[in-house]
Amino acid sequence: MIRLSQVTVRYGDLTAVSDVSFTVPPGFVLAVSGPSGAGKSSLLWAIAGAVPVAKGQVEVDGLVIKDRPAAAAHGIVLIPQGNGLARVLTARENLSFPLRAEQNPAGDVDRRIDEALAGVGLAESGDHLVEELSGGEQQRVAVARGIAQQGRVILADESTSELDSSNRERVLELLHDQARRGAAVVIATHDPNVADSADGHALMDEGRLSWVRRL
Ligand code: ADP
Ligand code: ADP
Repeated sequence: MIRLSQVTVRYGDLTAVSDVSFTVPPGFVLAVSGPSGAGKSSLLWAIAGAVPVAKGQVEVDGLVIKDRPAAAAHGIVLIPQGNGLARVLTARENLSFPLRAEQNPAGDVDRRIDEALAGVGLAESGDHLVEELSGGEQQRVAVARGIAQQGRVILADESTSELDSSNRERVLELLHDQARRGAAVVIATHDPNVADSADGHALMDEGRLSWVRRL
């Protein structure tokens, strides 16, 4: 369960997120849409502990989120816009990095990596360097890395923007699978098709959130 209470994010004098409150229960997918600069990324960063919250608070399953390391340790997974992958490592190495940090048994890590890469249709590409992959393939690797972590919260920032419709459907289905196993999922998107597929849909504009379709 994600619970935001009057969350405000500021960069100097600029208010990027203004007094936003909502909850996302486990098992639900919330889409947040809105124009460029509306504050969608900042909202996800606040949930992920990646930007300071100037006012209000973010709580996930009872823990008040203070910073990124605590959020990551609590199972809050961010799939960042622009994918955030290490370009000169392989796809598989990118997936393994956060999993090794959790100190999972090696066999379990390998199985989760294989499943996640197969899930995004890249079972054969695990040993390719990220920089050798197309933009869309890189985006699917970033999704696979997020999913392999099996977080309690998944935050996907424009994670289908470079995908054709069949891969977009595949990625959305994977995010819904994450919800079905109990994750709370938030997707920031420009794409009306993505927003339609979600359980709830909120619109952001100038940092403020309003509901199109409630959970
Ligand atoms: P989009 O509109 O596609 O969501 P943005 O242009 O808002 O993307 O942001 C893309 C990246 O640029 C983000 O990682 C953000 O940190 C950075 N960024 C956006 N606006 C600013 C700014 N005014 N100052 C510094 N960095 C910014
Ligand atoms: P969106 O994801 O909806 O495009 P963002 O959260 O990226 O919105 O940006 C919201 C506002 O905050 C924009 O005006 C953007 O320029 C600004 N912004 C984003 N990141 C930064 C940053 N790191 N530093 C300063 N301003 C930023």
